[in-house]
Amino acid sequence: MLKNQIYILGAGITGLAAGLASGLPVYEAAQTPGGICSSYYVRPKSQERLSIAPADDEAYHFELGGGHWIFGGDPVVLHFIRSLTPVKSYQRHSAVFFAGQNLYVPYPLQNHLGHLGPEIATRALDEMLTTPKGSPKTMADALRQDFGPTLTEHFFGPFHDLYTAGLWTRIAPQDGYKSPVNVSLALQGAFGQTPPVGYNATFVYPEVGLNTLAARMAEKCHINYNKQVVQIDVHRQVIHFADGATAPYDALISTLPLNKVTIMTGLEVSVPPDPYTSVLVLNIGAIRGPHCPTDHWLYNPDAQSGFHRVGFYSNVDVSFLPKSARTSNDRVSIYVERAYLGGEQPSEQEVKTYTQAVIEELQTWQFIDEIEVVDPTWIDVAYTWSWPGSSWRVRALKHLEECNIFQVGRYGRWIFQGIADSIKDGFVVGGAFKIS
Ligand SMILES: Cc1cc2nc3c(=O)[nH]c(=O)nc-3n(C[C@H](O)[C@H](O)[C@H](O)COP(=O)(O)OP(=O)(O)OC[C@H]3O[C@@H](n4cnc5c(N)ncnc54)[C@H](O)[C@@H]3O)c2cc1C
Repeated sequence: MLKNQIYILGAGITGLAAGLASGLPVYEAAQTPGGICSSYYVRPKSQERLSIAPADDEAYHFELGGGHWIFGGDPVVLHFIRSLTPVKSYQRHSAVFFAGQNLYVPYPLQNHLGHLGPEIATRALDEMLTTPKGSPKTMADALRQDFGPTLTEHFFGPFHDLYTAGLWTRIAPQDGYKSPVNVSLALQGAFGQTPPVGYNATFVYPEVGLNTLAARMAEKCHINYNKQVVQIDVHRQVIHFADGATAPYDALISTLPLNKVTIMTGLEVSVPPDPYTSVLVLNIGAIRGPHCPTDHWLYNPDAQSGFHRVGFYSNVDVSFLPKSARTSNDRVSIYVERAYLGGEQPSEQEVKTYTQAVIEELQTWQFIDEIEVVDPTWIDVAYTWSWPGSSWRVRALKHLEECNIFQVGRYGRWIFQGIADSIKDGFVVGGAFKIS
């Protein structure tokens, strides 16, 4: 029977929601709440990260994990977010950018085939209609089946190769809604305009930064910071922390990545773990180049330096720029994302070499001119995937549940979900454990 010693592990957005809904104490490795949903500030020509905007507002505003826009979500969750911090709403403005051809195709590409020229558009439409449908085993099979060889060769293949760090030919199909298939819209888009579609057509963002959302949630939680869990003894039911302290428990609500928790608990899952990818986020503040687009973000299938997405914080909102640049908009605040296979972290020197290559490439494209800030962050478990037919996730979750460890959130449950769904997840699990 469960007693009183129930803890939440991790004060990211999921753990905060669980802490708020349950009233239970939270253990967090970092000194601050929010996990990867955290903003920070850097003055031009400085390397120092500031956790709050300086009084004169002369700093670039970045996110630790690159642009974190709040998509979709349950209206109740959005109501909750609004009750803590005012938000602004935005209409997505994004495209695929083929640097080799200097060609922009609005997202989603399959609904804007007219931009690829009549020959490719006709062939792609024909293939979308005639490619036989079956039960694809891999992500590559699913994309080829939905879009046919022409679009796969042009965009979906090279993009997903970068985005999944080469895994796309070996992992199970996933998150199909990111590449929506609608043949009538594809047909319409081959000859004219189509309406915006997809999970991120509109989004909101807190007026004073994502930090405020996490900070306001944290004010209502009991958080023990600087408490990194290093081992969980499931037999004695004791948590071991990096500082040598221990805490007995009856049950745990864990938001930590599933693969790490199976290692910390020493639980044997009799099948190989599912793969994941890490992301290196480069935040850049620079003088705006003459060909800097106005998009919020671009999908990049052919960047020589290897990134798959470049986003423009300050195209979403000029408040991401130092105050003196907000009217002239002569600077730009950028995030660049590159995926790596889980477990293959680049060395410091490799990060430097890559950073230089990205800067040179963005300058060649004339997106940016002189650099004022460049600041990398490594997100170790960023995207979670599964091998075709794998039972690892289900088995691992079940073993942990049998030990009274309940995994929750994007990384805890090894699923793709954004901020709003993570909050909802935390509420549900937290509510189930509410202290009476
Ligand atoms: C590159 C990228 C871009 C994204 N963009 C968006 C977006 O635009 N919009 C959107 O809605 N979502 C986006 N997401 C998803 C979003 O970041 C997640 O849904 C959300 O942050 C998940 O929150 P979490 O609390 O579950 O995890 P996390 O934020 O990872 O929080 C986990 C917490 O646990 C702590 N922790 C870790 N290990 C230990 C330990 N051993 N002991 C104690 N504490 C520990 C960490 O410090 C952290 O605070 C993006 C994700 C990535 C990777």
